[in-house]
Amino acid sequence: MTIIVKKPAAKVAPNLADYSAALAAFSWDAARRSLDGLPGGAGLNIAHEAVDRHAQGPRAAHLALRCLGKNGMVRDFTYRNLAVETSRFANVLAGLGVQPGERVFVLAGRIPELYIAVLGALKQRCVVSPLFSAFGPEPIHTRFALGSGSVLVTSESLYQRKVAGLRERLPQLKHVLLVSESSNPAGVPGTLDLVTLMRDANPDFTIGPTDPEDRALLHFTSGTTGKPKGAVHVHQAVVAHHITGRLALDFHPDDVFWCTADPGWVTGTSYGIISPLTNGITSIVDEGDFDAERWYRILAEQKVSVWYTAPTAVRMMMKGGAELARRHAFPQLRFIASVGEPLNPQAVLWGRDAFGLPIHDNWWQTETGGIMIANYPAMDIKPGSMGKPLPGVEAAVVKRAGDNAVEVITAPNIEGELALKRGWPSMFRGYLNEDERYRKCFAGEWYLTGDLAKRDTDGYFWFVGRADDVIKSSGHLIGPFEVESALMEHPAVSEAGVIGKPDPVQLETVKAFVALKPGFEANEALRRDLLGFARKQLGAAVAPKEIDFVANLPKTRSGKIMRRLLKARELGLPEGDTSMLESGT
Ligand code: AMP
Repeated sequence: MTIIVKKPAAKVAPNLADYSAALAAFSWDAARRSLDGLPGGAGLNIAHEAVDRHAQGPRAAHLALRCLGKNGMVRDFTYRNLAVETSRFANVLAGLGVQPGERVFVLAGRIPELYIAVLGALKQRCVVSPLFSAFGPEPIHTRFALGSGSVLVTSESLYQRKVAGLRERLPQLKHVLLVSESSNPAGVPGTLDLVTLMRDANPDFTIGPTDPEDRALLHFTSGTTGKPKGAVHVHQAVVAHHITGRLALDFHPDDVFWCTADPGWVTGTSYGIISPLTNGITSIVDEGDFDAERWYRILAEQKVSVWYTAPTAVRMMMKGGAELARRHAFPQLRFIASVGEPLNPQAVLWGRDAFGLPIHDNWWQTETGGIMIANYPAMDIKPGSMGKPLPGVEAAVVKRAGDNAVEVITAPNIEGELALKRGWPSMFRGYLNEDERYRKCFAGEWYLTGDLAKRDTDGYFWFVGRADDVIKSSGHLIGPFEVESALMEHPAVSEAGVIGKPDPVQLETVKAFVALKPGFEANEALRRDLLGFARKQLGAAVAPKEIDFVANLPKTRSGKIMRRLLKARELGLPEGDTSMLESGT
């Protein structure tokens, strides 16, 4: 029997008070009209909606960003300050001759310069791609080369550790703007000092005409095969960022919001940067890594009222026990949401023990650009369910029926692929340079998400699993192919197969199976060497945590590694259909 968590008594009237009424009343046109558009009808630009329109209005002096440094330093930016800083950055780009449409990559921890660079580059109408700072050199190189980045904003230490050695392989990279940590910023060859450039830049900038369909953001995501995919989003996505903040995260003007995601992943951009700012509220940015005690302190001291986090973090907090939370008081906290992986029913309920509030799961992915399915404050929660589609979003469970068609499964509780009807503004507009791969994501009017789900009789959606072999670890999608390719670079490796191994905290951890070339002996020293090698190439977030040596990898007759079988064997599960298996593997 499904447990139902009754909606808690609301501390403020929810924006979405009645789900059915909101569905009936909603239109994307009306949502678009809740934004300003560029002055003089010059189009729609994310940075104008996020920063300039507030800086020019009654919220100019309102706190936009509070950045908490690892070292305890706090840097505050009002909307007016943010407008100045982002304009300076846009002028820095313009002064260097960087044109609209060029790609600006940002590789940094959660420091204010990252936020300023992203918004400033959007003002100059560049396409922005924030990269996760825990990536190693290989994932950085792959993404940079795919995206043809001409500008990189990064910190001195990240540059020295991860990028300097790649420079020769990045011929398209014209400008490296360094956030220096030393007293001699001019000392790093091949780079420019961002602080000096910013100091000398004009604080006024007029955003040029921006077509709502102009490219704005490039987020890399992983598939089962091939290189990472560059999902392209346009300025119009801001309509969805804005309205989902209101409806799914229930932003109210006095909210203090904390999204714990890193902007290197889509959540940290759509909701860690854009959505709270378009809604004119205060956003907390924490540079520090996860630490339960620090997080409780931030929630309490910063008087966070809306908190958006991830299941892995919740599970890590659960390990410490609810008593740890109860040592603090959170009188302002009124809404908690989570995304990125299935949220265990126990985690929903643990929220009530620790904070007096259930945790609201919601679902979306890089390609959808914004929240698509959610549990709303005014709706009862069925723990374990992702909730119901946003107004304006039509979701269905479907079965593929031929090449370009699907059959919608109308009967409840039947498993199928989760699909979304085209037409929401933050839908990705392409995979960079991969038209065919993009086309294959659609069947007629439906975008196929690659996730398996069910819908129950009340219209709640339930996540069942991924339809492919992509790994989810600590909320991050990891492509097994990228990990296998890195391992194959090691002189001892002839073949590698990589799976996600279930983990009680991280959901999955990366496990690799490796076959060795003749002349190499499988032993502990080689295993350690391989683990270290992969970590150096890929970075800690992506590298395998475990490596097993095998004589052969199971393969299909056409030579594809059967990761599904590796996983079944690892977990002692039935091997399923092995008719495709090449003999002897
Ligand atoms: P990403 O594109 O990296 O944001 O990853 C998106 C994928 O994460 C989805 O396609 C799902 O497989 C998974 N995911 C996101 N949110 C949820 C959720 N609430 N429940 C289950 N899986 C989720």
